[in-house]
Amino acid sequence: FLGPKSRGSCPWERKRMKQSKALIQTLREVPRDADVISQQLMIRAGMIQKLAAGIYDYLPLAYRSIKKFEAIVREELERDGCQELLMPAVQPAELWQESTRWSFYGKELLRFQDRKGADFCLGPTHEEIITDIVRRNIKSYKQLPINLFQIQGKFRDEIRPRFGLMRGREFIMKDGYSFHVDDACADREYWKMFEAYKRIFGRLGVKFRPVEADSGAIGGSFTHEFHVLAGSGEDAILSCDSCEYTSNIEKTEAPKLPYPHGDETELPLRAAHFQTPGIIAMEEQAKAFKDESHNGLPLTHASKFYLYRATKGGETWDLGLILRSDHEPNEVKLRNLLGADALELVPLEEAEALAGCKSGFIGPVELKVPIYGDRSLEGAFNLTCGANKTDFHHFGFLPSRDLSDFKGFFDLRKAAEGDLCPRCGKGHFQAFRGIEVGQVFKLGTKYSLSMGCNYLDQEGKEHPMIMGCYGIGITRTVAAVIEQNYDDDGIVWPWPVAPYQVHLLNLDPGNVEVMELSNRLEKELEEAGFEVLHDDREGMSPGVKFKDADLLGFPLRLTVGARGLKEGTVELRDRRTKETLKVAPATVLERVAAAKERIMTALCQAGGR
Ligand code: ATP
Ligand code: MG
Repeated sequence: FLGPKSRGSCPWERKRMKQSKALIQTLREVPRDADVISQQLMIRAGMIQKLAAGIYDYLPLAYRSIKKFEAIVREELERDGCQELLMPAVQPAELWQESTRWSFYGKELLRFQDRKGADFCLGPTHEEIITDIVRRNIKSYKQLPINLFQIQGKFRDEIRPRFGLMRGREFIMKDGYSFHVDDACADREYWKMFEAYKRIFGRLGVKFRPVEADSGAIGGSFTHEFHVLAGSGEDAILSCDSCEYTSNIEKTEAPKLPYPHGDETELPLRAAHFQTPGIIAMEEQAKAFKDESHNGLPLTHASKFYLYRATKGGETWDLGLILRSDHEPNEVKLRNLLGADALELVPLEEAEALAGCKSGFIGPVELKVPIYGDRSLEGAFNLTCGANKTDFHHFGFLPSRDLSDFKGFFDLRKAAEGDLCPRCGKGHFQAFRGIEVGQVFKLGTKYSLSMGCNYLDQEGKEHPMIMGCYGIGITRTVAAVIEQNYDDDGIVWPWPVAPYQVHLLNLDPGNVEVMELSNRLEKELEEAGFEVLHDDREGMSPGVKFKDADLLGFPLRLTVGARGLKEGTVELRDRRTKETLKVAPATVLERVAAAKERIMTALCQAGGR
């Protein structure tokens, strides 16, 4: 599982430490502005400290976990032939202008000028820099493929930094980039990295899923995100309960649903047919409708309408989207269909002015904008829709007949839990929340074309290189591990990224015998390859030491005290199972080794699916 030559931790790391000298300031209180569990626990355990919004100090305990995770990432990538380098965090604007991203990347890109007035930015990602490195150093097909990565601090001026390390402005990322002569080679590397990511997250023992994700304007189906499953996750994931199809809801293909009222008689559009005074909620509207054959309508009879504004390059235009009233719009799908750079709802006041009525009554029929329909409305008729007249709705709406600029039906809604899986046609979607900890992406020639990153083939002909890129949120992953591994008392670290593995509690540091034994065990454990934090602090009650140990959550706790010593025992406790053993000091090493075995076996079983 860990591979034959796995180092398991950082060889350069200090293996033992006295807590009286360690920078670990624990807090009893839950910090007021901490919203998610990892943030609360990391602050309370003295691991991180906020410096400014989305900017944290990684204190020694946190940095140990970070370095351990980095070591796992390095080990798995180097196993696959990737080479590590380090690029500057400060990037000149010229490269971003070459790739054209200088004008497209929004305010997340922190731009500044040096003393001579030259434009720079702090790197949010490094496609431009790596492409420049490769075009300057690689000329021939003989030097390809190549896969280069770095582990580095990134800066993104996120609009809403939150959740501690999960969405910071400054954070540590592993970003890797590969260069190839053709698509087949790039695809092979993509799947190789996909497998490497499975090994990397598998080694943490967390439950995670690779999910198909939106590849944005670049197009193609070649991107997967890796998500750690957690209720606090910002992303919604749908997973088929019968086949392998798992995807980010932004991308999930929604099944086309048949129109459930196909046996009715098709009516003409009855303009502003029914009064819906002040009624905006869809359910109320449907209920309010009455005519000779209907007394109230099911929601599936009602359509709803969204007015959007799209931009692409310098161009801006408005358009409409119609959906069945019980469906949600998927703006990512719509933006991709339009090939737009950005898409937003038309501001309410403008929409009301355009339609000449109050919001809630705005509808597609009279508006002079192109209209797109979700494909679950294909074949639907006798629909209701806003009549662009305050307090009125139409009935008898048939999109293909009643709209002057109708663009057709497409998959434009959000798939939902319980929907039939369109891939296998058998299973149904289950919903999960996920934390995006990594992403693999086939870039194609987006950067190599704009930046002239070419190679010469056997005949000396020039071609653009095919690129892939591969990211892992290092600091976000460490936080995500905690989101899945905690209890009421604190963190429950999985062995591979625990800051220390054994917390040695010396309950009577004033007692010479206890101190001698504790020091001896500390040293012996270190020599046996374990990492030990020795709580040798004086003037602290056992209760406080136990509480701190639970909060810090190292996998094993070894308690040495005067009382136990009289019986000739020390106490070994598993943080996760809370199983406690009294053991003779002479057998501590073998007991700790056995406990590690047990813990690692359980971790292998817990990881992955
Ligand atoms: P998100 O959708 O969460 O904003 P992203 O898709 O923009 O992330 P990528 O460009 O794919 O992020 O970056 C690679 C990895 O870096 C992500 O998978 C994520 O784990 C991590 N990451 C991105 N933004 C942040 C952030 N603000 N704080 C911490 N980690 C981040
Ligand atoms: Mg991403």
